[in-house]
Amino acid sequence: MASEFLPFALPDIGDAEIDEVVDSLRSGWVTTGPKTKRFEGDFAAFLGGGVDAVAVNSATAGLHLALEAVGVREGDEVVTTPYTFTATAEVIRYLGAHPVFADIDPKTLNIDVTQLRSVLTPRTRAIIPVHFGGLACEMQSILEIARAHKLAVVEDAAHAFPATCGGRLIGTLDSDITVFSFYATKTITTGEGGMVVTRRPEIAERCRTMRLHGISRDVFDRYTSAAPSWHYEVIAPGYKYNLTDIAASIGIHQLKKAWSFQKKRGRLASRYDAAFSRLPLVLPAHPADDDVHAWHLYVIRLTPDSSIERNEFIEEMARRGIGCSVHFIPLHLHPYWRDTYGLEPGDFPRAFDAYQNAVSLPLYTRMTDSDQERVIEAVSTLLSR
Ligand SMILES: *Cc1c(COP(=O)(O)O)cnc(C)c1O
Repeated sequence: MASEFLPFALPDIGDAEIDEVVDSLRSGWVTTGPKTKRFEGDFAAFLGGGVDAVAVNSATAGLHLALEAVGVREGDEVVTTPYTFTATAEVIRYLGAHPVFADIDPKTLNIDVTQLRSVLTPRTRAIIPVHFGGLACEMQSILEIARAHKLAVVEDAAHAFPATCGGRLIGTLDSDITVFSFYATKTITTGEGGMVVTRRPEIAERCRTMRLHGISRDVFDRYTSAAPSWHYEVIAPGYKYNLTDIAASIGIHQLKKAWSFQKKRGRLASRYDAAFSRLPLVLPAHPADDDVHAWHLYVIRLTPDSSIERNEFIEEMARRGIGCSVHFIPLHLHPYWRDTYGLEPGDFPRAFDAYQNAVSLPLYTRMTDSDQERVIEAVSTLLSR
């Protein structure tokens, strides 16, 4: 009976990652260098479509660089969803600009395109769609709106590796920049890390410069090229956002498993779908046609028929040794966003309603069939009382 605690998420790190890290540690080169270059090259090749990839030490850093590179300035407005992690919006404030939230589509939990259109003003500069849980936003409509209003599009793809939209991988669409996260709980991890992806060479170059102090030449190049190693030029007050070779070593091997990880996550999601189909729950939306869902998250929503409310549900799961989470506490409920912009829960009623009923269940590649059975049995018991 007293089975082990089943955590909400776990990274899946193998011997190849460990050996590669040890190789870096022994090599004498531990910061950004050959492994990072290789990881960037491999990542760009994985996506295809002629994209360039710039490795950074977090997706938050990458989103900051992205908004800077597309020219977001003080006083500008950037439209995004309230149903996200605070990183999506805090980077807008880093630049002195303001987030403007548009409520979500209650089916997909992604930004609603009609709501998005309704909040545009002459000060809007950019849109940050977030592919919630790994399900692509309606990118065709979002890109059309952006084109019509001359807005930049920066995709927050922290959950969406790999995922597709209209048959194309997220990262290769016609937005300006896409940012992926390799945080510990994400679909592939480097501990901490992220990748900025773009097809625009001037944007890639700006991100490369700004990720390392605004220096026009990266450190690895300084020590390996024929030009004098001591010389460099600072062309802007940049940031310190480079990825280390230690982290990139993990990423190189995680990347090779990205499709097998995705398939495993997809299988786990299908099993949940089948097991819960008769329960009084709202199950996660699936992509249209044959598109790929990254299944970073599996979020169920309780309903008035569920006969248990969300907080009690999570407590009961914990009592059964199962870790659950909530994605997300909408930004407009957090003190900073609420008070800075005078927001009320009812300003984004769909995000508020989703939040009140949402439970993220464990879903990760290291889960066994019997781990998943435990979750299914607990959920079924709690909803059949
Ligand atoms: C995890 C996450 C981020 C931030 O990623 P880091 O790599 O931890 O900086 C940004 N946006 C969303 C939606 C996330 O879930």
